Amino acid sequence: MELRLYNTLTRSKDLLRPLDPLNVRMYVCGPTVYDHAHIGNARPVIVFDVLFRLLRRLYGESHVKYVRNITDVDDKINARAADRSISIRDLTEETYRWFREDTAALNCLPPTVEPRATEHIEEMRILIERLVASGHAYVAEEHVLFNVPSMPDYGRLSRRSLDEMMAGARVDVAPYKRDAMDFVLWKPSAEGVPGWPSPCGIATPGRPGWHIECSAMSWKHLGETFDIHGGGIDLVFPHHENEIAQSRCAFHSGVMAQMWMHNGFLMLEGEKMSKSLGNFVTIRELLDEWPGEVLRLAMLSTHYRQPINWTRQGLGFAAKTLDKWYRVIGDVEAETGEANPFETEIADRLADDLNTPSVIAHLHHLAEVAEHEEASSALRRRFKGAANLLGLLGDTETGWRARQKEAIALDEGVIADLIAQRIAARKAKDFKRADQIREELAAKGIVLMDNKDGTTSWEVSR
Ligand SMILES: [Zn+2]
Repeated sequence: MELRLYNTLTRSKDLLRPLDPLNVRMYVCGPTVYDHAHIGNARPVIVFDVLFRLLRRLYGESHVKYVRNITDVDDKINARAADRSISIRDLTEETYRWFREDTAALNCLPPTVEPRATEHIEEMRILIERLVASGHAYVAEEHVLFNVPSMPDYGRLSRRSLDEMMAGARVDVAPYKRDAMDFVLWKPSAEGVPGWPSPCGIATPGRPGWHIECSAMSWKHLGETFDIHGGGIDLVFPHHENEIAQSRCAFHSGVMAQMWMHNGFLMLEGEKMSKSLGNFVTIRELLDEWPGEVLRLAMLSTHYRQPINWTRQGLGFAAKTLDKWYRVIGDVEAETGEANPFETEIADRLADDLNTPSVIAHLHHLAEVAEHEEASSALRRRFKGAANLLGLLGDTETGWRARQKEAIALDEGVIADLIAQRIAARKAKDFKRADQIREELAAKGIVLMDNKDGTTSWEVSR
């Protein structure tokens, strides 16, 4: 099977040819840990989890290395810790724990390595000193800056003109910069701000710029060049452009990663998500209301390169779909591996630049096939195995099934009894009691529907 992925570097769907098929290497930019991750942050986590699963199937589980970093040194972190009057370490630990819980609830596999920036300061210092020694960086007023004009093909990834790049980078004008485009590799830390011994003989302790972190961590865990580098489309410039500049100039290599992949933006109900517009929603808030599996399916319903419009309606569709699919599989075990032709059909579609909308359409078709073939549980096992490749129908603790079981565990007699009590309360005009019963059942996942004939029916909610 050939895996083709859209490569931002070449602007075409390229065939993945791993540098070493026994060690396929992928790096994805991870979270800056200072607050709950929002649903836009979940997009790369889910998209690259699907790719990770596919790579493991194609090359073998032990032959794929997926690195996703944790940025735990950043001015936003310092400011938030000060606001909350807690230590920086407590803030980053707590936020990282939330992130792990959220992504596990979305049924994402943990990456092979999750390196922390603060544990790779030494690698950053080495890279910075190399760049200074080779004339690509310089020291000025206790800062170390990368000199952009020292790299003739800077800007190849984003293909922007220098003017566009200047505007996009919101360039800080600083008197010590040789060129307006030059960016910070290292900066001095004032008292009370985290600082480490500085490179290049700078006396004042300092801290790294953001871009150098990823060059250092990918080098440490994946080597000087590797196969795939991923992240959100907003990272193409300046972050990824600068990562490339640092790594290529430090290692004198033609590429940092062979394949650069970027997921599109996420809009919330048709609008840009922003705290100031008040339409900012965290993964955790959504998980309070929906099983993680619903969020996952909703996210994968749009191709990863397209902008996604995140809506309640989309979540509702995803929930209905899962409801149906779980009904189809019943209690069968999944059949996984190459012997399962359904799984191969799904893998083929994924191998075409992760075409998840096509995969989901095909799963709908396979569900129909499995549903109508009542005599054969083999088909249902195959269908389940195929969905597993996308990280769905896995019977996870946080999945759809767990929620259903919880609701079904309520004795039907108890539900009928409560409904009768509610009807009586309404007749007696005790609406407070009637509402109380409705809410009590809703909390257990039971939705009541009042019929025209005066009876009340119920169903298991999402
Ligand atoms: Zn990065």
